[in-house]
Amino acid sequence: MKPYLKRAWAEISLSALEANIRAISASLQGNTQIMAVVKADAYGHGEAEILQKLTQIGIRYFAVSNLDEALHVRQYCPDSDVLILGYTPPEYADTLAQNNIIQGIVSAEYACTLNARTRTPIRCHVKLDTGMGRIGITGDTPGDCADSIQDMSFLRNLKIEGIYTHFAVADMPDDPEQNAYTEAQKQFIRSVGTELMKRGVHLKHLHYLNSAGVLYHNDANSTLARVGIIMYGLAPNYPLPVPLDLKPVLSLKAVISHIKRVQPGTSISYGRTFQADHCMKIATVTVGYADGYSRLLSSKADVLVKGRRCPIVGRICMDQLMLDVSAIDDLRCGEIVTLIGQDGDEQITADELASLYGTIGYEVVCGISKRVPRIYVD
Ligand SMILES: *Cc1c(COP(=O)(O)O)cnc(C)c1O
Repeated sequence: MKPYLKRAWAEISLSALEANIRAISASLQGNTQIMAVVKADAYGHGEAEILQKLTQIGIRYFAVSNLDEALHVRQYCPDSDVLILGYTPPEYADTLAQNNIIQGIVSAEYACTLNARTRTPIRCHVKLDTGMGRIGITGDTPGDCADSIQDMSFLRNLKIEGIYTHFAVADMPDDPEQNAYTEAQKQFIRSVGTELMKRGVHLKHLHYLNSAGVLYHNDANSTLARVGIIMYGLAPNYPLPVPLDLKPVLSLKAVISHIKRVQPGTSISYGRTFQADHCMKIATVTVGYADGYSRLLSSKADVLVKGRRCPIVGRICMDQLMLDVSAIDDLRCGEIVTLIGQDGDEQITADELASLYGTIGYEVVCGISKRVPRIYVD
């Protein structure tokens, strides 16, 4: 007996994760350390096991999106540095302090509010908006930003340990204009750092590299590399080639529940969008959009059956979908099929699926629903 229902499941390869970390580490310059981005349940891979593996292989910096996620990391990795990249409501100031969580400071006003809400110092990294247009302090010149940060450094209950910024277009290395934009973002935060140093505000960290930054704008001046998607073996901007040997960590599998032969004119699934025009063999598979396998993939994606690509026919249902398996011999109910992953010489990546319906691999893996058990394989 399997410890889970063998219907639709995700296999998470911890050895692929480890190999990706080694490849990324080897590509980092100077003393840059990996800060593993484990927000959104480790991009849908399951935070508990991912955190345990990362800790075991020596990662000690983590980034998350919110306090809840930070407390989970704290539970699995008591000695790590945990940075909340996004907003924490100021009423949780004491929770941040008591759990030794590092908070991203998004504005001068937020710094003051947070400072007023606690008596125990909170560790902070100040976020600069150097061109992403999302969160962070802005200024016409690096000197202006340094002024704001210097003011914050006088707040008793905030311990400013670093500054950081986020790239908007680091994933377009073939476009000179976008490269210049990214380099200007880098230059700006580095100037803020230099300015603060001159004024005696000491920073332990100054960081800006994300996955695309590591691949296409790497340098030794970012003390941390906040890597998410490449750690999970996907590309920041598929189909642009990735200059690192990465292995996808997640595979999505299901089984065949029903096989039938159909006559010409037979329609398949809701809306009758597919009708057989010849005798066909059709298999039903135990996965659907409630598992996070998007309905937008109807009649678009392939599924691997016995190492061969079989097209989805008709609309994907909530819990099931149908395949044309006419080309596959000796097929039985219970056969395991691969929706994402490798089977023989064929491979379907989350990036490939994403491109079929106009999204990115990030959304595909984050979207695999909680009904799908994550099974950890080596
Ligand atoms: C999500 C996120 C990252 C990680 O991005 P990847 O492209 O997955 O490497 C890094 N920094 C910030 C601020 C983020 O929000």
